[in-house]
Amino acid sequence: MIEISNVSKSYGAFKVLKNCSASIGRGEVVVICGPSGSGKSTLIKTVNGLEAIDSGEIKVGGFRLTPGVTNVAALRRSVGMVFQSFELFPHLTVLSNVTIAQTKVLKRSKAAAEEKARSLLERVGLSAHMTKHPAQLSGGQQQRVAIARALALDPDVMLFDEPTSALDPEMVNEVLDVMTGLARQGMTMVCVTHEMGFARGVANRILFMDEGEIVETADAARFFDNPQSDRARSFLAKIL
Ligand code: ATP
Ligand code: MG
Repeated sequence: MIEISNVSKSYGAFKVLKNCSASIGRGEVVVICGPSGSGKSTLIKTVNGLEAIDSGEIKVGGFRLTPGVTNVAALRRSVGMVFQSFELFPHLTVLSNVTIAQTKVLKRSKAAAEEKARSLLERVGLSAHMTKHPAQLSGGQQQRVAIARALALDPDVMLFDEPTSALDPEMVNEVLDVMTGLARQGMTMVCVTHEMGFARGVANRILFMDEGEIVETADAARFFDNPQSDRARSFLAKIL
């Protein structure tokens, strides 16, 4: 589903991604972890074209991203993304947040878009909040709206960049539960997260990054129980 091949990227003289390669199958859930500044957000954003690459190639479904490719609108439609900071439209209701791209981008009818939105909002447990505005919701509720909004375009892949990092601790699980449900339903997911319980329990594989490199790729149990690299061992010692 996703093939990242020898991808490198620099900001001036600073190499943020160094010859990164990874392959993610349909229905797979991959967690990217690693120290702050290691390039996790940059790597995940290259997958939907939010960050351009300097060399290498990324294939996502039928799309191919190479250096200089700028026509990424169709790709973005098939790759949903959820950020740490929710980024909902503040002036729109919850329901409109989940319908607007359906009507504007996919040209669905208002009725069809609303039907889809209602069913997604029910799935993330927010049926009672559809007429509210984002500012009237808790952080965990806002993040669940953001997930519903991304799902409304029927993406083939969902990308998550630290979706629970901005939340109060008691709201983390309500978002992780939605993500776990998605994973169980077979969604292909790439998640940057520090939630190691989610990583161990839900991810098929872990990509460990350090200083712009994918240092280690391992199935989740092996990564936590028996990391192969010194860098992964020292990272896990700090966070577990
Ligand atoms: P964190 O865990 O803190 O979110 P990260 O692993 O997601 O870190 P990135 O955000 O991908 O790291 O950043 C990797 C490196 O690239 C950092 O050193 C960062 O300062 C640098 N960087 C990111 N964006 C830019 C930019 N637009 N211009 C210059 N440097 C950048
Ligand atoms: Mg980041």
